[in-house]
Amino acid sequence: MVILETKDLSYSYPDGTVALKGLNFKAEEGEMIAILGPNGAGKSTTFLHFNGILKPSSGKVFLKGKPISYDNKSLLNVRKTVGIVFQNPDDQLFAPTVEQDVAFGPMNLGFSKEDVEKKVKEALKAVSMEGFEKKPPHHLSGGQKKRIAIAGILAMNPEIIVLDEPTTGLDPLGASQIMKLLYELNKKGITIIISTHDVDLVPVYASKVYLLSNGKIIMGGTPKEIFSNP
Ligand code: ADP
Ligand code: ADP
Repeated sequence: MVILETKDLSYSYPDGTVALKGLNFKAEEGEMIAILGPNGAGKSTTFLHFNGILKPSSGKVFLKGKPISYDNKSLLNVRKTVGIVFQNPDDQLFAPTVEQDVAFGPMNLGFSKEDVEKKVKEALKAVSMEGFEKKPPHHLSGGQKKRIAIAGILAMNPEIIVLDEPTTGLDPLGASQIMKLLYELNKKGITIIISTHDVDLVPVYASKVYLLSNGKIIMGGTPKEIFSNP
């Protein structure tokens, strides 16, 4: 089943910058997709459309076959289904403690207190950050912050997780640990979409690669197809 799709997606920022120019993208349920492209190609702008933070200037985004509509009720549903992890965890972590941070999403979605506690526990376990519940997030390392940001998304039970450059700024070990974590989550059935510059790690973990250039997808295929092309 196609779980997420864009058709002729174009977007211009309010200052007139044309960021996306008819972008066509498709994710099958259960895939682990890497989007590669130079700075300014439009990766972050694309991701902001995946969970409805940005509304297309033209074209459409389809979630589970239905076009996203942009009223508050529909958007809440979109944000439940598609979790986004920003490049800089400091954009995402702001509570005084790790557990409060991870609890923020499910609380906002109206989960019961017991359910929130259960979700926080499960999510911290999934990212191997048990024992950090009472720590202030801003004291953690880059890799640990990334894990907490991922836990905050996991706690909302998303079907799709979109991560903007999840390995940028991490050392090679931290980077491969994050990719392994994403791979494990993908094995549990969550569709994973990342943007990255890390071409070494992509063929190891991604099932599909898209190349984005100048606001368009210019190529897509398995890592083998993409990287063996002359
Ligand atoms: P990438 O994530 O691939 O680096 P972006 O989606 O951030 O690319 O940027 C695509 C284009 O849109 C670039 O030309 C960038 O400068 C521009 N852009 C990004 N954010 C904004 C913004 N808030 N206002 C105006 N232009 C922007
Ligand atoms: P990325 O490569 O992840 O998109 P950037 O350094 O391009 O990171 O962008 C960092 C922030 O600056 C983002 O919030 C983006 O929207 C904003 N931004 C990028 N380009 C522009 C621009 N030309 N005008 C205004 N804001 C921009």
